Amino acid sequence: MTRKNEEIDKPRSNCGIVGVYNHPQASLMTYFALHALQHRGQEAAGITSFYYDEKKKKKKYAYTKGEGLVLDIFSDPKLFTDVLKGDIAIGHNRYSTTGSSKRANIQPFNISYHGGILSLAHNGNLTNTMTLRKQLDKEGAIFTTTTDTEIFLHLAANSKKKEPKEQILEALKIVKGAYSLVIISEDSLMVARDPYGFRPMSIGRIKNKDGSYAYVAASETCALDIIGAEYIRSVKHNEFLVINRKTVETGEMESYKILDKTPEAKHCIFEYIYFSRPDSKIFGHNVDKVRRKLGKNLARESHVIKPSGEKVTVFGVPDSGNTAALGFARVNDRDFGPAAFEIGLIRSHYVGRTFIAPGQKSREFKVKVKFNPVKGVIVNRNVVVIDDSIVRGTTSKTLISLIREAHPKEINMRITSPPIKFPCHYGMDFPSSEELIANHYDSEEEIGKAIGVDSLHYLSMEKLLESVPQEEGIGYCTACFDGNYPVKIEKNHTKLVTED
Ligand code: SF4
Repeated sequence: MTRKNEEIDKPRSNCGIVGVYNHPQASLMTYFALHALQHRGQEAAGITSFYYDEKKKKKKYAYTKGEGLVLDIFSDPKLFTDVLKGDIAIGHNRYSTTGSSKRANIQPFNISYHGGILSLAHNGNLTNTMTLRKQLDKEGAIFTTTTDTEIFLHLAANSKKKEPKEQILEALKIVKGAYSLVIISEDSLMVARDPYGFRPMSIGRIKNKDGSYAYVAASETCALDIIGAEYIRSVKHNEFLVINRKTVETGEMESYKILDKTPEAKHCIFEYIYFSRPDSKIFGHNVDKVRRKLGKNLARESHVIKPSGEKVTVFGVPDSGNTAALGFARVNDRDFGPAAFEIGLIRSHYVGRTFIAPGQKSREFKVKVKFNPVKGVIVNRNVVVIDDSIVRGTTSKTLISLIREAHPKEINMRITSPPIKFPCHYGMDFPSSEELIANHYDSEEEIGKAIGVDSLHYLSMEKLLESVPQEEGIGYCTACFDGNYPVKIEKNHTKLVTED
């Protein structure tokens, strides 16, 4: 069954993916890269590697997967030398958006079929899942998971085309929705972004000791940084890339279009606002720079000045609010009235999703465990708290009451996105529309009152769009704010054919 959303008070990214080709320690590189992408999925992770079996004289696959964090699942160093052998590997971190987090649903998915072996990892959500699963069921396909991802492999295995890359490309033309993919066949690493390019994906390379290059594909460039890979470029929307021996020899990657006509991209704007790490490049741009701009535009739209000339104290809700708070404080101070950036909240880095607080059921305690206000920074000050979004409003309300306990003169809240009013169907986990606080009140004043702040402002759509990179042929998905879904959503597309 789909995961329950009661606890969600931030949208959740569902996956981080990595692929490594031509590296003597491919699985180890994948492991480090997955660790850097841990923020994109903390429920489960898996790595598959392909190696040559000398006895059987053929390529075989090995995999390890489990529930929990990357560091815990792959804690035995022998895994990388004795099990996950070979110079090609892919990996996946997951939250479940379609399909539960049961073991069979943990990616990568591996198959042996008439064309050899394939392994695939997916970030995103398909929107024609039900139609395709029904159709494949009729044709005799047996599904072993409850996810939309398995569809890619069934379509490829059903293809009449000869080569794996042709089979995969054919499958990509049939599926609809959001996908960034890494796929390995016996002799190649394939990487794809859907025609609208909702999710990011970048390519890098590492120089091996023998002088050849290893190629790496990853959701965000922080995963390239951790393994010392040099950034080459972002995979384009509507692009299917094949990296093989020829790439190692010539440096050329094979690039194909998925649809003959490339539509305007619809990059997920929330990747910039919240999901991606600020030290990453996504869609070819630095996240940090965009977040600062969001903060700056927020200050232009809704600065805080005191007639007395008193300085206001600006701080972010860690971690995603910090960079925007810097931008806000800078513009507020330079163009409107005195403001200083401070660290007003400390976040515990040791609270995972599985944190258990015996005997403490209250939300207040859960928020207290995660955040602690820095009292000396807040007491007797006019504070401006910068956050990226308000979802259900429950955590914001509790957080504000904690900040109040530190006795500020007033609390002004500023949000670096417009109000969230609609669910995401492209791979992010949001609560239902009824649970979103913005659907319960008519104005930001009312929402502000409900969460207990003295003033509240959400960044306008106009300023949001002005803050993100402007390029020809590149647009943005803003559906969770305005309900304009770029790809049609099939009714019940996340309802699973096989329930757990
Ligand atoms: S609906 Fe929102 S979260 Fe989902 S892809 Fe669009 S912008 Fe991103």
